[in-house]
Amino acid sequence: MLQQIKSELEPHGTSLVAVSKTRTSDEILGMYHKGQRIFGENRVQELVQKYEELPKDIEWHMIGHLQRNKVKYIAPFVTLIHAVDSIRLLEEINKQGAAHERIIPCLLQYKIAEEESKFGMGDSSFDNCPFDEFENVKIAGVMGMATFTSDSEQVRREFKKLKNIFNRLKENIFQDKSEFSEISMGMSGDYRIAIEEGSTMVRIGSLLFGNRI
Ligand SMILES: *Cc1c(COP(=O)(O)O)cnc(C)c1O
Repeated sequence: MLQQIKSELEPHGTSLVAVSKTRTSDEILGMYHKGQRIFGENRVQELVQKYEELPKDIEWHMIGHLQRNKVKYIAPFVTLIHAVDSIRLLEEINKQGAAHERIIPCLLQYKIAEEESKFGMGDSSFDNCPFDEFENVKIAGVMGMATFTSDSEQVRREFKKLKNIFNRLKENIFQDKSEFSEISMGMSGDYRIAIEEGSTMVRIGSLLFGNRI
C-alpha cells in the first residue's frame, strides 16, 4: 500500500505523512524499513515517547491540536507543527523555539469544513498576525481538514477553499517567503481529491496501517 500511494503522489510532488497515532513502535519500524521517514502524531505524550524509542532520522510531524503548555515537550525535535490555530500558540512556539535555539516550521490551520468543526481559524484570522516578530518560527504554509462525508463535491469545495486561502496569503503576506509553500490536506478517505486540488502534503493513517480500533 505504501508504494502504491507513493506512486500516486510522486507525479504531483506531494509528500506523504504516515499518520502513526495509536500504532506501536514495531508497526512504525515496519513502515520505516520500507523507506518511510515522515510520521505524524496527534498527541504530545505519544509523540515524545515514539521519538525517544525510534530511529533519529525520522521526521516527526505534530498534526493534532496542540495545547500551549505542551509545546515545550516537542520543541527540541519536532519537524513540522501542522495545526497552529491561534496567535497565542504561535507566540509560545516562538518562545520555545528560542529556548531551544531552533526555528520551528509551522502550518496555519484553517477551518474549511462547511459543517461545525472545533479547531482551525476563520479565513482572515491570521491576517494581522505580526509574523515578522516571531524569529524562531517559520510559516511553511497552511493545513485544513475537510468534512468527513461521502459527498465528494463538498469535500472538493472545502479543499478549493484552503487553496484559495493559501493563494491569498502567498500574494498578500508571504510574497517574499519562498518557504511558504505547503498545503497540508487530504487523509485516507479524500487524498485523491486533495491532490487534484493542489495538496502538497497528505496525512494518511488507516489506509497505510489498517483501521484503528
Ligand atoms: C488521524 C488523522 C489523520 C489520518 O486519518 P486517516 O483517516 O486514518 O488517514 C490525518 N490528519 C489528522 C489531523 C488526523 O488526526
